[in-house]
Amino acid sequence: MASGINHIKGTLLIAIPVGLVGFFGGGGIPDGLACALGCLSGIILSPDLDVEHRTESEYLIYRVLGKFLGAIWFAFWWPYGKMIPHRSPLSHAPILGTIIRILYIYGLGGILWFAFAWAITGHGTWLPMPNWLHPLAFWWLIGLIFADALHYIMDVLPFWKQHRYPWWMRTLRKLFR
Ligand SMILES: [Zn+2]
Repeated sequence: MASGINHIKGTLLIAIPVGLVGFFGGGGIPDGLACALGCLSGIILSPDLDVEHRTESEYLIYRVLGKFLGAIWFAFWWPYGKMIPHRSPLSHAPILGTIIRILYIYGLGGILWFAFAWAITGHGTWLPMPNWLHPLAFWWLIGLIFADALHYIMDVLPFWKQHRYPWWMRTLRKLFR
C-alpha cells in the first residue's frame, strides 16, 4: 500500500496527462479542464476513505476548510470506512470503486439533503443529480476514474508497498510459518 502522501503526489503528476485525455477525447479546453479537475478530485474522494481513522483526504479538508467542516467530512465518510474493509474491491477496484463512492455520496448526501430541506421548508426534496451525459460531468467522472485507477495500481505495485519485507519474502513467510 502506498502512503497517502505518495497517492497525492501520483495524482498531481497525472493530472495534466489526464486533462489531455479530456482535451483530445472531448471538446477541447472545457472538457480537458473538467477531466483534470476530476483527476484532482481523487485526492479528496480517495479510495482510502475506506479506513476508519483519519485519512490524508480527511486531514486535508480539516486543514483547508477548518475544524468544523473537517469534522462534518469525517463524520460523512465514517460509515463508509466502517462498512467497507480497507482495500476491498468495493472501494479500490477501478471503475467499480469510483461508482460505489459516487452512489454513497448520493445515498447518504440525499438523505441528509432531504432531512435538511424538510427541516427548513416543511417538505423534502431530492438531491439534484448531475446529468452524467453532460460533457463536463462525464469528463470529470472519467478524470476521477483515472485517479482511482492510479491509486489501485500504486496499492498493488510492490514498489510502493510499505512493508519491511518484499512481497515474495512475505509470501514465503506465510507459507512456512
Ligand atoms: Zn488505497
